[in-house]
Amino acid sequence: MKSSRIKKLVENLSPLVPSPEGGGRCGNTWRKERFWQSDNMIKTVFTRTIIRPSTVRSISHSLRCNTNIPRREMGMGTENVVARLKSSGLLQTKGLIGGKWTDAYDGRTIQVNNPASGEVIASVACMGEKETKDAISSAYDALGHWSKLTAADRSSRLRNWYNLLNQHKEELGQLITLEQGKPLKEAIGEVGYGASFIEFFAEEAKRVYGDIIPSTLPDRRLFVLKQPIGVVGAITPWNFPLAMITRKVGPALACGCTVVIKPSEFTPLTALAAAELALQSGIPPGVLNVVMGDAPKIGNSLLESPQVRKITFTGSTAVGKKLMAGAADTVKKVSLELGGNAPCIVFDDADLEVALKGSLATKFRNSGQTCVCANRILVQEGIYEKFTSSFSDAVQNLKVGNGFTEGVVQGPLINEAAVQKVDSFVQDAISEGAKVLVGGKRHSLGFTFYEPTIIGDVKNEMLIARQEVFGPVAPVIRFKTEEEAIQIANDTNAGLAAYIFTSSIKRSWRVSEALEYGIVGVNEGLVSTEVAPFGGYKQSGLGREGSRYGLDEYLEIKYVCMGNMD
Ligand code: NAP
Repeated sequence: MKSSRIKKLVENLSPLVPSPEGGGRCGNTWRKERFWQSDNMIKTVFTRTIIRPSTVRSISHSLRCNTNIPRREMGMGTENVVARLKSSGLLQTKGLIGGKWTDAYDGRTIQVNNPASGEVIASVACMGEKETKDAISSAYDALGHWSKLTAADRSSRLRNWYNLLNQHKEELGQLITLEQGKPLKEAIGEVGYGASFIEFFAEEAKRVYGDIIPSTLPDRRLFVLKQPIGVVGAITPWNFPLAMITRKVGPALACGCTVVIKPSEFTPLTALAAAELALQSGIPPGVLNVVMGDAPKIGNSLLESPQVRKITFTGSTAVGKKLMAGAADTVKKVSLELGGNAPCIVFDDADLEVALKGSLATKFRNSGQTCVCANRILVQEGIYEKFTSSFSDAVQNLKVGNGFTEGVVQGPLINEAAVQKVDSFVQDAISEGAKVLVGGKRHSLGFTFYEPTIIGDVKNEMLIARQEVFGPVAPVIRFKTEEEAIQIANDTNAGLAAYIFTSSIKRSWRVSEALEYGIVGVNEGLVSTEVAPFGGYKQSGLGREGSRYGLDEYLEIKYVCMGNMD
């Protein structure tokens, strides 16, 4: 493919997905690292990272939640952004309980770092059981009033919130880039995507219809009412610090539920800024609460409380399984959006340019850190050489760096543990006979930057194809027939997103129907939208988010039988 076409493809990647910022060296910080272990097992330990990033040692959680910890001061650039955010009132660092910004009761704080540099951006309240219990009580107390407002009233407050999120998209985008790392353009794109859920569910709030059922007896009238399920515990990950919250809170509030949000401790600042805007939009105190800090303690408090009627979680499969088991004692409704292992299948009859654009977008958005990122690229033998050659040219041209730098489309990974995991998968694949076509090692920028990578001749049995890579590495698998591609694609416990590239309409239908996945992109690598259902088959989760189906997750169905109506 001509180099001008490749340049265009690479440039196009940037507006499609926002990504992180980078650069710099970190001093001493306390931070939590997650170490990948084996299939679906993640061990979480608290570590002191003395950057040179590989030097880590375990410490207790109490040390991480501590005010007297060494910190890497902000550089001038970061300091200016933070100062602007402070003056806008959007840099909140306390939890939100019953409409009041609240410190941890024991005064502990936890540092939020810029993943591109290790700089400490802020210290936020490090909360646990007591604060969570109070947040649940606030949500429970607010439920009566909020659920009894008219749908139109709830809708207009959600609409106000949507407007405010849009008005502040620059600041929110900067916050996302600061704490999550994705490039600013991509971060601002996430704000638009996140806000779209609030707008969509502001509209859907008015359409929570019940039913009238024709009775089997002449003197009876049968009705179905849909009512809010109650207090919702919403636990969210770091890779989309805003959108994973709004995708849950939008439908919950639209239905009349109240929520306790627990954002990831890596990215609480965006959640707190969104909560500040929710308060400004007229959503009453107690309807939306935010606690962050000790994840297991907060999680257990939500699980144990009989007042919490629903847990909605986005994150790893390992933690999702724990939450599902923990919800059993109080028989809570559970929605889970978990990890994926997306196949991206390129058939011989694909339009090469469409396949390249789609594969680039689905693999390298957010530096490969999304649950719907292509995890395995399956390429039919007739197009394998042509595809891998053009794909390599495009990937070599992806600009890596600080998310605030113009033109950067690949930021850092979230932390050192993520880099180690990605690198261990690459090394394992090489040792099993796969070939590095592009990249394959840490980036010369250092710290948590990893080179955009393509590995060829991968086999589906290799670790890199069995596990979610969650990084900028594209493993390419060669296949011969359509049947073989479907078999390889379905040979996994995950079932979130899949992609196919073909010019045949018949094949599009056939393969879409055969794939055991909740989402299928045909000749398209970016499929997420607020109007369509998002969720997985198999161990990728339960329930759907977004679209009209997303409302059902927050509703109880009540059957009313009126007798003696003669
Ligand atoms: P994670 O480690 O499971 O964390 C997700 C959330 O759960 C965070 O808020 C975390 O808190 C919290 N948590 C951790 N342990 C907990 C416990 N014992 N009790 C209660 N809460 C607990 O996942 P992640 O690393 O943040 O996110 C990456 C994963 O999310 C990937 O597997 C990705 O595929 C998945 N994901 C799925 C979707 C989807 O829609 N299917 C979307 C995005 C991401 P702390 O961070 O404070 O520890």
